[in-house]
Parts: sequence; C-alpha cells; structure tokens
Amino acid sequence: MPSTTTVIVGAGHCGLAMSHCLASRSIDHVVLEREQVANSWRTQRWDSLRLLTPNWMTRLPGYGYRGGDPHGYLTARQVTALLEDYAETSAAPVLAGTTVTSVRAAGGGFLVRTDQGIWRAPTVVLACGAATVPAVPALARLAPAGITSVTPAGYRNPGELPPGGVLVVGASASGIQLADELCRSGRPVTLAVGEHVRMPRTYRGRDILWWLDASGLLDQRYDGVDDLVRARNVPSMQLVGSPGRTVDLNALSSAGVRLAGRLAGIADGVAQFSGSLPNVCALADLKLGRLLNTIDAWAGAAGERFAPTAVRSTPLGLDLRSGEISTIVWATGYRPDLSWLDVPVLDSRGRVVHDGGVTACPGLYLIGMPFLRRRKSSLIDGAADDAAELATHLAGHLDALGSCRERSAS
Ligand SMILES: Cc1cc2nc3c(=O)[nH]c(=O)nc-3n(C[C@H](O)[C@H](O)[C@H](O)COP(=O)(O)OP(=O)(O)OC[C@H]3O[C@@H](n4cnc5c(N)ncnc54)[C@H](O)[C@@H]3O)c2cc1C
Repeated sequence: MPSTTTVIVGAGHCGLAMSHCLASRSIDHVVLEREQVANSWRTQRWDSLRLLTPNWMTRLPGYGYRGGDPHGYLTARQVTALLEDYAETSAAPVLAGTTVTSVRAAGGGFLVRTDQGIWRAPTVVLACGAATVPAVPALARLAPAGITSVTPAGYRNPGELPPGGVLVVGASASGIQLADELCRSGRPVTLAVGEHVRMPRTYRGRDILWWLDASGLLDQRYDGVDDLVRARNVPSMQLVGSPGRTVDLNALSSAGVRLAGRLAGIADGVAQFSGSLPNVCALADLKLGRLLNTIDAWAGAAGERFAPTAVRSTPLGLDLRSGEISTIVWATGYRPDLSWLDVPVLDSRGRVVHDGGVTACPGLYLIGMPFLRRRKSSLIDGAADDAAELATHLAGHLDALGSCRERSAS
C-alpha cells in the first residue's frame, strides 16, 4: 500500500496552492484528482464565462498572472491553462484520473481509498471544491412537465436552450450573468431575485475589487467577524468580468429583464414570487451604501453614490404552463460533495465542521470554503494565505506526531 505524508484531494487552484506550500516545507505529498488539473473550469463553466476578479488578482503561492492585460478578466479556458502551467512549473505531484472514494481514520492517520488503490497518510487536505454540486431547491421538482431545467454548471450558451422565455432563479453572480446573456440573445427573461449583494464594477475610476483588496476588507479574518455563520453564507457579488460594465438589477431591467421577487413556491404549475422585492432591494442598496462609506473612510475622501434600485410592479405569479416560459435556470448556488468522507466531522447537512479549515479530527484539513479563514477565501486570490497558514498548522501536527513516536520508542 503506497504511503505519503499528506494526501491532498483535488487539483483545483486550492489543491495546487496547498501542494506548493507543503513542497516549500519539504513535506512529502500527492494530489489525487478524479479527472485533470482544473477540472471544474473545464467541465462546469458556461462558454462565455469570465472571472469576475481582475487578472492582477489571480495570485497563487509562488505564481501569478503574467500576461499583458492585468485589468482584464480571464475566460474559463484561460483559467484552465493558467492552472495547468502552475501545476507544471511548481512540479505538483498530481495523480490525475484518481477518484477518492473514501477517507477514514486508521492507526493515528488516514486510509484514503481510491479507484486506483489505497493510500495511507498521517494527514489529509480536502481541496475538492465548495461548488461541486448545484444546490437546487426541492421545489424544482414541482415545475410542470415540458419545462427544461438547467443549472449554471450544465448551461453552456443560449443556443442550447429550447426556444422561448427563460425564468432565471437567483440573482447572485451566476444568475445575473446568465440573465444578462439570455436577454442579450433576444430571449424574454424573468429574474427571480432573493437576497443579493449589489456591487458596481468600478468605483471612483477603479475596479471595485481594487478597493476591497487595498482597504483590507477582503483580508478580514474568520475569527474577527461577529456572525461567522452568516458571513459564510453571504451570496456572491453581482459582478461580471467585463471592463467598466455594471450589471445590477437597474441595468438588467433597463435591458428588458422582468424582475420578480424570490421564488417562494410552485403550485398547480404557477410559480409564486414573494412580494418583498422592494424591501430586499432596499436592503441591498443600504448595504452597498455602507460598503462605500467604509471605503471612503479608509480613503479619506467621499466618492459617487449609485441610484437606488428601481422596482416597478413585479409579478406575484407566473403560469409555467402557458408556454411563456420554456426553461428555468436554477442559479441557486452550489454545495460541496463530501458524501464519501467516512470521518465524523460532518454536520446534519453534510458540511464539514471546521475552525478555519482545521477539523476536529487531528490531521484532517479543509480548504476552499467560503470565508474559511478570510473574506477572500472563496476567491482564487484567497488560497495563498489560507494554504500557508494551514501548512503551518499541518507541519506543527506532524512535529507533534513525530515527538509522540519518539517518546513511545524510547
Ligand atoms: C461559476 C463560478 C464562477 C467563479 N468565478 C470566480 C472568479 O471570478 N474569481 C475567483 O477568484 N473565484 C471564482 N469562483 C470561485 C472559485 O475560484 C472556484 O469555485 C474554484 O474552482 C474553487 O477552487 P477549488 O480548488 O477550491 O475547487 P475546484 O476548482 O472545484 O477543484 C476541486 C477539484 O477536486 C476534484 N475532486 C472533487 N472530488 C474529488 C474526489 N472525490 N476525488 C478526487 N478529486 C476530486 C475535482 O475534480 C476538482 O478538480 C467561481 C466559482 C464558480 C462556481
């Protein structure tokens, strides 16, 4: 049975960042990947997707964006190429085509079962992605027969959908990007809007992410926020990777997208929307105002303010059997898939309980989850600091294991 010091599960940017940090400490490890490096960027992104983070923010341990367009936004294909190059230049020991089917504690370490054999290791890092499976609400089952349901992970382009109108459920980054694309392609689009994070693309002449980065807001630590559960569940920012273009609800409704409240149910083929859209939008406007105030306080000068979200009359019901809607896009978020983890660290919803990526099972670590250790943890740019700190913890655990073994041998 092969053994190593650390098994990393997953060769996305987090697994590769972790590999780099372990290598720089000379910690022997392998990265087990069920498909190929950057699998999620190859297989789960729509054709037109661009990162919503500017290229200069694509920073990884010992590596970074080196092209000539620091203020542009990478396509999914470019992200794939970048991660392939990162894996190659950092000589990451990736074993592609190796699916981990179970991890369980054994003999003070772990047995990692894969479809290619079993590994033994005293430490394991789960870097298998926070966005592995689309999180579709149970009410999706109530959509009438004849309606096509897709998720952002399966959607590729407007031409692949059946002709007709589209209901996009969810107005975070994926939802607003797809509503925008579908509307531009000439489809009638209704967007069901729940809680969302309104964000201008540029503020005072700079990308909003420059302000969030420079002011230190993205560096806010997990042990410094009042309500961590809430912070870990904040929806993604309403941003698209297109220079200077803000795609908020005002922009979408001006382009012809019909706004509706949160999808609350489907009864007898009729989609029912919450009537709280004006309140939800007022809250998002308020939070945006507070964010800009924080940035202004940091910068020592006041900047522009944006028009409130205009909510005109919104539908409370939409008959899904009338033929008006042919497709529902469930842009309702994603979740990890750790159903194969055979270690008692999961909560009732199947999520790993952890303290900044350190689980209660000594030697088992997690990376890549929202607000794992910092506000930026779910971004590519967040992996470097998180991986460095987890590598420090993991090295400390190995040292402790080593001295235990020395004591029991003497
Ligand atoms: C639509 C979308 C857009 C995003 N846009 C941005 C953006 O603009 N900027 C930004 O910074 N971030 C963005 N993100 C967030 C984040 O960067 C990505 O989710 C990123 O892919 C997460 O990296 P990861 O390494 O944690 O996980 P992943 O990239 O998902 O990598 C996990 C890897 O683990 C492998 N794996 C899973 N299970 C197993 C198993 N059992 N055995 C072996 N291998 C396994 C998978 O095949 C995969 O390769 C976006 C996310 C999504 C979903």
